[in-house]
Amino acid sequence: MNFSFTEEETQIREETARFARERILPLQGEIEKCGVLPESLDAEFRGLGIVGLPFPEEDGGLSGTFTSMILAVRELAYASMVPPNMVLENFVLAWPLWAYGSEELKKTYLPGLFSMESVGALAFTEPDTGSDPRQLKTTAVKAEGGWVLNGTKRFITYSGICDQMILFAKTGEMEVAAFLVERGKPGYKAGKRESFSHMQVDNGDVILQDYFAPDPHLIGAPAQGFEILLKSESLGKIGFCAIYAGAANRAVDLALSYATTRTHRGKPIGLKFQMIQEKIARMAVMAEALNSHLFRVCAKVDEGSDILFDAAVLKILTANTIRRLASDVMEIHGAYGLSDEYEASRIYALAAGAPVVMGALDLQRVIVARTLLAAGRYEG
Ligand SMILES: Cc1cc2nc3c(=O)[nH]c(=O)nc-3n(C[C@H](O)[C@H](O)[C@H](O)COP(=O)(O)OP(=O)(O)OC[C@H]3O[C@@H](n4cnc5c(N)ncnc54)[C@H](O)[C@@H]3O)c2cc1C
Repeated sequence: MNFSFTEEETQIREETARFARERILPLQGEIEKCGVLPESLDAEFRGLGIVGLPFPEEDGGLSGTFTSMILAVRELAYASMVPPNMVLENFVLAWPLWAYGSEELKKTYLPGLFSMESVGALAFTEPDTGSDPRQLKTTAVKAEGGWVLNGTKRFITYSGICDQMILFAKTGEMEVAAFLVERGKPGYKAGKRESFSHMQVDNGDVILQDYFAPDPHLIGAPAQGFEILLKSESLGKIGFCAIYAGAANRAVDLALSYATTRTHRGKPIGLKFQMIQEKIARMAVMAEALNSHLFRVCAKVDEGSDILFDAAVLKILTANTIRRLASDVMEIHGAYGLSDEYEASRIYALAAGAPVVMGALDLQRVIVARTLLAAGRYEG
């Protein structure tokens, strides 16, 4: 497995890191509060072309690697959750369109998703389940020339602002299909909006009432929805973990900055107290492990290996790591850790979302345990 970065990947990493630190970080407070980029930055950010990186040039992409996109996501997340989230929502629609969609779907929708002129989304979760496809209630019934969709989706990121989404609906008792659904079409309504403690983002219900999806808007075969969901979510999960790796790297820097400037009787607490040093060392070790495993899994994606198991392991590692790091950075900051003036409180709030979004943690444990039990051995 090739686990070193290519020249191109290193260049993308450096460019996005520069953009994140010089352009996003100074506006972090404002960006995080609104959940969107200010107009002055928006066009520049979209122009970076990050979503197209892992797709071939013949399909309008940049023929880069999955690793290069993830490097960019992680570097952006060092400064804010908002821009990498925008990348990932487009990616989780672009990837299944590219891998399973008809030529017509690809030609129509991929260019806008790659350039980020259009906004993508993914809709699986419903009021009764976010984990079990068998409990889905949204239905797709075959009609002349297409499918009629009815049901409610819940917690759908960007469902009030997106242009298109991939939406999963039942086509039979056990069968799930994936559809391209457009927000502007009759039968689509953005319902109740959610507000979260860990981040500001457009999120809420999608209500479909006799929404008509023409035949070419079926993605893959009518019974292929679950396979498409598992693969898209596994890749999306890696991107989501990259966001948390960026936040983890930021947390270590915040800890270092505070420990070297806050003094106790004239001496920086990081130099004076071994227990602060112990926390810093632990944070660094955990961030190293997270970053290493993240890019190990990316290398597997670029090799074309199956990553269902690896993405689940990564998600568990990420959720546990970021919650511990967030707690450590907050403790190092003392009372200031709770103050909105210090970024430690932002990382702490962010960490709370890690076990839930992009697959509940217990479900990842189920994937990991079942894979190993079926194999009967662990390769390491
Ligand atoms: C900020 C945010 C953004 C989101 N964005 C999206 C989005 O864009 N699109 C989308 O589709 N969803 C989205 N979600 C929903 C999210 O993916 C789901 O909340 C998540 O998958 C969990 O689903 P649930 O809440 O229905 O939990 P449930 O599936 O009801 O699970 C509840 C509990 O039971 C456990 N459990 C459930 N089934 C099993 C099992 N088989 N074995 C063991 N334990 C089990 C779970 O681990 C969990 O602890 C978002 C959520 C948030 C908070």
